[in-house]
Amino acid sequence: MRQGEVAPNGPWIGNPQGGVDAPDPLILPDPAARFAATAARLEVLADGHAMADWLRFMAGLAQAQHDALAALGPLAGPDATLVRQAVEARMPPLAADGHRRHPLWREGLAALLDSSENGRFAGTIPADARTVMRSLRARGAAAQEKLADDFLSGGVAPAETGATLYVAAALQVYFTRLAGQLPAEDLRLLPERGLCPCCGSLPVSGVVTASGRAPGTRYLHCSLCSAAWNHVRAVCITCGKSGALSLMSVEGESGAVRAEVCGDCRSYAKMLYQPQDMKVDPVADDLASLGLDVLVAEAGWSRHAPNPLVLTG
Ligand SMILES: [Zn+2]
Ligand SMILES: [Zn+2]
Repeated sequence: MRQGEVAPNGPWIGNPQGGVDAPDPLILPDPAARFAATAARLEVLADGHAMADWLRFMAGLAQAQHDALAALGPLAGPDATLVRQAVEARMPPLAADGHRRHPLWREGLAALLDSSENGRFAGTIPADARTVMRSLRARGAAAQEKLADDFLSGGVAPAETGATLYVAAALQVYFTRLAGQLPAEDLRLLPERGLCPCCGSLPVSGVVTASGRAPGTRYLHCSLCSAAWNHVRAVCITCGKSGALSLMSVEGESGAVRAEVCGDCRSYAKMLYQPQDMKVDPVADDLASLGLDVLVAEAGWSRHAPNPLVLTG
């Protein structure tokens, strides 16, 4: 509305914020698409990439995650009353560190290991990774649960990083399946806007959209449950300040992947731009741009949170 216009009486017609639709605050994951999309994107990005072998290995892991979904079967989602209570208390209903895991997640882990070892990416697995997989499979339930607890609480022992890669991947499958079953209409963003409203984890990256209800919106993508939530642009996702933000990217590249660096807290986060490439994937494009992480780290910035599959792998 321009100045001098007369405000209309009665209810607003359309969106009171102006000509564009308000973005959805939260987008729950579609488990059937999430891991298959990452696997396909990693295969594309691996072509001609300096780290092609590793990206194909990670494509195989994403494909194994997709295959593990089937083994997990339909899980009973969290009780509707508990979800409402958590949301009213401004807590994430699937809090990664408080949620009582269904033992079926370990069936998912077993299926993930089977698919990795026997699937079409099996040739990409290095010998030492095969050893890690076999020893992980042979461990009992209690040991596997401890690895999961240690991963979710951020206390992975250095000797366990190899095994934890597969545990983390299986937990992503499990939490993504559960998040996909949450009642979207009952959920709210957390007061800590940098944390996932479903499970309270940190995002792996952000995506600036070029389509949908509100193009140009930024969504952060959860590193654990794959939910995406709206986070205002031009505000640091770590400290919430906006005075010293800037973008860094690798010279000569498309600009689809950039590091948003914050001079206030000296952190950075990876942002992906659909206007430059509609096919960006929050996990695959993060993995394929580790070179940018190296450049930004050398310039003195710390990543806001690791990609769990890089931390552990
Ligand atoms: Zn989450
Ligand atoms: Zn900051």
